[in-house]
Amino acid sequence: MNENESEQTAGILRSQGAQPCSHAEDSDIIIINTCAVREKPVEKLFSLLGRLQHIKKKNNACIGVTGCVAQLFKNEISQRNQSVDFVVGPDNLWKIPEIISSLSQSSSCIIHTPRNRQWREIEPIARKNHISGYVSVMKGCNHFCTYCVVPFAKGREKYRPLPYIKAEIKDLAEKGFKEIHLLGQNVNSYQDPESGKDFVSLLKEISPIKGIEWIRFITSHPKNFTSDIIKTMAETEKICHQLHLPIQSGSDAILRYMGRGYTRQQYLEKIGLLKENMPDISLSTDIIVGFPKETEKDFSETLSVLKQVQYTNIFSFRYSKRPHTAALKYTEEVPFEIKKQRLIQLQELQRRIQLKANQSLIGTQMKVLCMGKSTKNQNSYFGRNEGFQVVNFESASDVTGKFVTLEITDCGPYSLIGRT
Ligand code: SF4
Repeated sequence: MNENESEQTAGILRSQGAQPCSHAEDSDIIIINTCAVREKPVEKLFSLLGRLQHIKKKNNACIGVTGCVAQLFKNEISQRNQSVDFVVGPDNLWKIPEIISSLSQSSSCIIHTPRNRQWREIEPIARKNHISGYVSVMKGCNHFCTYCVVPFAKGREKYRPLPYIKAEIKDLAEKGFKEIHLLGQNVNSYQDPESGKDFVSLLKEISPIKGIEWIRFITSHPKNFTSDIIKTMAETEKICHQLHLPIQSGSDAILRYMGRGYTRQQYLEKIGLLKENMPDISLSTDIIVGFPKETEKDFSETLSVLKQVQYTNIFSFRYSKRPHTAALKYTEEVPFEIKKQRLIQLQELQRRIQLKANQSLIGTQMKVLCMGKSTKNQNSYFGRNEGFQVVNFESASDVTGKFVTLEITDCGPYSLIGRT
C-alpha cells in the first residue's frame, strides 16, 4: 500500500511538471513516504532526515514527510529536524502541490494531517512498472487489534466507489497491464459506498475486464474471510490461487490478547476449506513473535501452525510497542533475547518448509509472468508464478510483460529457477 501511495505522490508531482531524478543530491524536492507499523522504520526516518541535512544546505531542497509516521509523529518530526519543510498525513497527498507552492511564504514546517472520512480519488499515478498494477479499493481499518497502530494512522475504513475501481482496471488493461493487485488494509470488508456491493460482487464485476489475466488481493482478515470469497476464488479463472491470510499467532490465548476475533481452530477451518476448493493454493501469512504474555507453549503452537499449513511464504516480526495501542497496557513483556531466539527458530522452520516444497516443484512446468531483466545477467529474467513465487530464468528473447511456460530446474528456499 505504501508503494502505491508513493506512486500516487509521484503522479501528483509529475502532473505539476516535476521530473524524477536518480540521486537525492540532485533533487529539488525530496518526499519520504513512511510506514509506522513497526518501530524500526520510524527510527530509520529520523536517521535518514539527519543524513539529508547536507542536501538541504547544499541546494535548499524542499523536504517533506508523508504517510503514517507523518500522521502519528508530526510534531516530533518538525521539532527534531529543522530541515523538514512539510509533514502530510496519508489522507492528504492531494494537497502536496499547494503546500509546496506556499513554502516560500512560510518559514516554519507546514503540518497538514486532517482526517478525511470520505474516499478521495488521486490521479494520475506514476506507476513503477507497466505489467502489474496496484489498485486501491479501501483504506483504513476498524478492527483495532491490540498491537496495531494502523487504525490510528490511517483512520477508519473508507471504501472506493466501484465505478472508479472498474475504470482504473480498464485503463490498466488498455495500457497493457496483465495483472492487478487489489489493495486495502482489510479488502474483505469492502462495500461500495453507493450500492453497498460487497467484496465478492467487486471480484465478479472486475473479472470480465479483458486484458487482465491475473487478479490478486491483499490483505484479508480471517474474520471477514467468508466461504463465498473462497467459492468465488475457486470458480473465477482469473483470480490467482494465492492468498495472504495473516494468523499472527497459533495460540488461542495470544490471539485473544491481540483482539484478533478468531480462534486457531476457526482460522485452520478456513485454510482447510481453501485447500479443499483449491488444492494448488499458495498461502502466506504474518506472524508476530514475543507478544506480551507469549509463553514457550504459545510459541510452540505457532510453530505447529506453520507445520500444518505449509505456507509458501511468511512475514515474521518481533513484537514492538506502538503508540496508542491497547497492548501497551500488557506489562508481561517477553525479554528481547527470547523474542530474537523465537524469531530465528520460526524463520528456520519456515526456511526448511519452503525448501522442501520448492524442491518438489523441480521438473514441473508452470506459467510465469515475466517482470523484467535481472540486474545480474543480460539474458536473465525474473517473474512470478500464480503462487506469487519469484522464478528466475534465462531467455534468448526479451519476454518482459509476457506469460511464459517454464520448467523448474532448481530452487532455493526463497525462489525457483526455471528454463523456457
Ligand atoms: S486488522 Fe488488525 S492488524 Fe490489520 S490493519 Fe486492522 S488493526 Fe491492524
